[in-house]
Amino acid sequence: MKQLLNLLFPKHCVVCKKEGSFLCDDCLSLIEINPFRYCLCEKLKKEDKCNNCKNRYLDKIFSASDYNNKIVKTAIHKFKYSYIKELSLPFSFLILKHLENVNCSIDTSFILVPVPLSQKKIRKRGFNQSEEIAKNISKVTGLLLDSNCLIKIKENKSQAELNKTERINNIKNVFKVTKELKNKNILLIDDVYTTGSTMEECSKELKKAGANKVWGITIAREMVDL
Ligand SMILES: [Zn+2]
Ligand SMILES: [Zn+2]
Repeated sequence: MKQLLNLLFPKHCVVCKKEGSFLCDDCLSLIEINPFRYCLCEKLKKEDKCNNCKNRYLDKIFSASDYNNKIVKTAIHKFKYSYIKELSLPFSFLILKHLENVNCSIDTSFILVPVPLSQKKIRKRGFNQSEEIAKNISKVTGLLLDSNCLIKIKENKSQAELNKTERINNIKNVFKVTKELKNKNILLIDDVYTTGSTMEECSKELKKAGANKVWGITIAREMVDL
């Protein structure tokens, strides 16, 4: 069946169009996996947050690659807007490689929580791109995945066109935690980290529900001056 499907609907690399897979090995090898980690702001950071960020709810952020890399940008775009779910595999690979590069050891007290989408978006896209990545990471690491503890209760505008202040207001009170998370450590999964306002709003809700540490993980980081 699979062979027949491949024959009828061959996979093409979303970047170079070569037949065989949705992101070919050549294109994948051109994505530089971050060998370092940033603070929530744009400072390079090894351990704690800088003074400006120390009062933020999110404790750490890990981003596997740079969103300005053309291949990363194209592939993430195809993942989200052309609904190519299978791209979650190479993205998960990049994330796991990055965690290895920065010597991040995640113990079993952490649970994986994808940044939720609204019901309307899920119906349109058919899947939550962050949840697909979280599923893969769960399979490889054995960490528990909980896609229901954090939900999106309000439809809002896309963050992409907004500046930093507008983003903070646009994302306010759109998430809700559905259960107590006392002393749980959370790995929050999203596709791109830009100003961090989405992750911050999620972290606020997760901590209100009792979560201890909240670390963010994304495929890519977009450095912007908003
Ligand atoms: Zn390619
Ligand atoms: Zn900082």
